[in-house]
Amino acid sequence: MLFSPVTYNEPVFRPPGEANSVIIQATLGCSWNQCSFCEMYTSKKFKVRNQEEVIAEIQKLSKYYKGAKKIFLADGNAFILSSKKLVPLLKQINSDFGRIQRVSSYALPKDILNKSVSELQELKAHGLKLLYIGIETGDDALLKLINKGETYNSTVDGILKAQQASIDTSIMILNGIGGKKYSQQHALNSAKIINEINPKFLSTLTLSLPYGIEHFQSKFKGDYTQQSITELYEELKLLIQNTKVNNVIYRSDHVSNNLILKGILSKDNDKLISTIEQAVAITSENEYPSAPSVL
Ligand code: SF4
Repeated sequence: MLFSPVTYNEPVFRPPGEANSVIIQATLGCSWNQCSFCEMYTSKKFKVRNQEEVIAEIQKLSKYYKGAKKIFLADGNAFILSSKKLVPLLKQINSDFGRIQRVSSYALPKDILNKSVSELQELKAHGLKLLYIGIETGDDALLKLINKGETYNSTVDGILKAQQASIDTSIMILNGIGGKKYSQQHALNSAKIINEINPKFLSTLTLSLPYGIEHFQSKFKGDYTQQSITELYEELKLLIQNTKVNNVIYRSDHVSNNLILKGILSKDNDKLISTIEQAVAITSENEYPSAPSVL
């Protein structure tokens, strides 16, 4: 096990793009913690950590990780903290770490909407430059079925508000979240929301069922039938075919993904679609059920 100058409250999650970032747990767990597909923080009760303790950890981490360029504020949605609580943390980070390139965190659209544009601008001025938002789908019916606690409109409003304050957004869509029945509307409405918000980054992850299909079906409020890998690819293809955006950096390289895809949307759409079609041709000959058992 690697040495760390602080003891983290496990489990700790961070986006793949934050693999080399220093992680600071400003909150524990997820304030929502009710999405039907998510088991990330079900073992934790949401808590805002004591500010002095977090500041003491920033001081310790800055001595150990000298020269670090990126900081990720954990856990599930540290951005729920008010700007009154976030600004002192950002000031401490800037003063202790020095030349930090960016601070980022997971956020829910409601966390963004609860802040004014001037508060968001102040956070940006103190280095909070990127928010990761798992919107999962742009389909309102599915958002209800997975109990996301957000709608198409609240998601668009939150993300555009962050972008209005010049905070970049990294969006996550969950391939397979609706199963066979909702696949088409999931792909089309997810493309629609991506087109409307034009995030800086887009990732597609694949639905994982760490506790099995029945456990997920008991939490999903609709009729879930698992897709084959070919059907997941077809859903992804439909999504990409319908995106019309400017310079969105796209990645499908999470551990849950069966196919690695990287490109710039919409410039690389044809290339990405061709790669998916090749994968469909290979996979459909040896089809087996999807859903890897990973978080
Ligand atoms: S998906 Fe995000 S918002 Fe939903 S329970 Fe998990 S961490 Fe919380």
